[in-house]
Amino acid sequence: KPSIVHCLKLLMLLALGGVTMHVPDEDDVVASLGALRLDGHFSFDDAHAAARDFGNRCSLLPAAVLHPGSVSDVAATVRRVFQLGRSSPLTVAARGHGHSLLGQSQAAGGIVVKMESLAAAAARAVRVHGGASPHVDAPGGELWINVLHETLKHGLAPRSWTDYLHLTVGGTLSNAGVSGQAFRHGPQVSNVNQLEIVTGRGEVVTCSHEVNSDLFYAALGGLGQFGIITRARIALEPAPKMVRWIRVLYSDFETFTEDQEKLIASEKTFDYIEGFVIINRTGILNNWRTSFKPQDPVQASQFQSDGRVLYCLELTMNFNHDEADIMEQEVGALLSRLRYISSTLFYTDVTYLEFLDRVHTSELKLRAQGLWEVPHPWLNLLIPRSTVHKFAKEVFGKILKDSNNGPILLYPVNRTKWDNRTSVVIPDEEIFYLVGFLSSAPSSSGHGSVEHAMNLNNKIVDFCEKNGVGMKQYLAPYTTQKQWKAHFGARWETFERRKHTYDPLAILAPGQRIFPKAS
Ligand code: FAD
Repeated sequence: KPSIVHCLKLLMLLALGGVTMHVPDEDDVVASLGALRLDGHFSFDDAHAAARDFGNRCSLLPAAVLHPGSVSDVAATVRRVFQLGRSSPLTVAARGHGHSLLGQSQAAGGIVVKMESLAAAAARAVRVHGGASPHVDAPGGELWINVLHETLKHGLAPRSWTDYLHLTVGGTLSNAGVSGQAFRHGPQVSNVNQLEIVTGRGEVVTCSHEVNSDLFYAALGGLGQFGIITRARIALEPAPKMVRWIRVLYSDFETFTEDQEKLIASEKTFDYIEGFVIINRTGILNNWRTSFKPQDPVQASQFQSDGRVLYCLELTMNFNHDEADIMEQEVGALLSRLRYISSTLFYTDVTYLEFLDRVHTSELKLRAQGLWEVPHPWLNLLIPRSTVHKFAKEVFGKILKDSNNGPILLYPVNRTKWDNRTSVVIPDEEIFYLVGFLSSAPSSSGHGSVEHAMNLNNKIVDFCEKNGVGMKQYLAPYTTQKQWKAHFGARWETFERRKHTYDPLAILAPGQRIFPKAS
């Protein structure tokens, strides 16, 4: 059952801030919006489903759910709410796949737009274009896995991914979309050519690097604040058939990160570079090589971790069946430059689709054990290279020494691949690390509880703030404008100006808690 403590705090904050607390109900929505002619429909009986998310810690009931049958439905609804003006408390939240962590795709007493309904309604929803600059036009509510299935039919695929593909195009583009390809191609927001957006005034606008570029950059990483992304044009590349997927271990953080940085700096390198931290007692030590073959079975069986914190470098090299020999040579040459513990080289060959959809395989296993729909008090940080060692020493050496409850990702990316005209906030350094503490909280007390995980998260954030780590949060869970201003720093002014331009009444994405609805 979702904890509502955070949400209650939020409602109290709104009350203290002097915001009118009239929460609209079904009758209000019917009175306000009932006259709209729609291709789709409003529903009132699935409000509870729209009040849930992956974080499972916050549940805010909307007044209604819009199942749009066309882009016009989205535009007409937002336009109507805009026309109702300041006297109406109605807000509008686009809901992608609802994989937010703390109510970001929810709207208390507002309208949730189920973007997947729009994706399903569009005829031939995903359109692939080949040629010299291959690209795909995908509805904002389409899942990335479906985009991949469609593009693979043409031998093509998007270049930049998230680790998990059962997320929507509009949902990840509203954040950044980061995975092990980002060092080469940048995050997903760096791989978009054009967007179609319904602004907070209810206007449908097409924008790109050249046309309406301010809105284009605003919406990329814009946390849903400037408009609802109804379509995105995404760059494609030829898709490989196969992937050599490799894992090796380090016991020394410095050697691990030096090798990661060496790899992301090289022209000729792997196609995907990530890493994770293995803290003993989590059971992950025994899992990290499941379904992987050891390069040297005898040596591998003798490897003992001796209770140390270990760092796993995860790499892939793409190949087609007739290129297996070349791939073997290239992988060998690249691995020979690395300083991992030699007995810990493990690998497997899988199809490109299997590799990209890898987290879904874990999802199915966790679902079968009832461990997917538990609270997820995740913490995602972007840590500058210059402070990552100080950070690691404290966090892995002290704060998480004895316990943590989920994978910890840690890998570097290059700032040059991020476009600073977008709304994404990153540290001010050439190389920074994405560090994701992906905790699950399956029990209501003790080490598996939300409280325990939050206590550890708070200690980590506290350490960063008190020791000048220069960290920025990714998928930030802030609840006050003061926190958001600090997050955006010098970029707040632009963010606020764009909000006044494209969503002046602050109708959109209220669950991000950045701008209260104008009253
Ligand atoms: P939702 O949760 O539905 O929405 C997120 C926010 O975007 C909300 O504010 C919503 O109002 C807004 N929004 C949704 N759709 C639109 C739209 N069409 N137009 C405008 N605004 C919109 N992120 C990474 O970068 N890399 C990863 O590897 C990664 N792995 C993940 C793995 C898992 C298992 C999970 C649960 C999340 C992961 N994420 C990752 C985070 C993920 O990118 C975000 O949570 C993302 O918002 C989820 O997409 P969604 O479709 O579920 O969006």
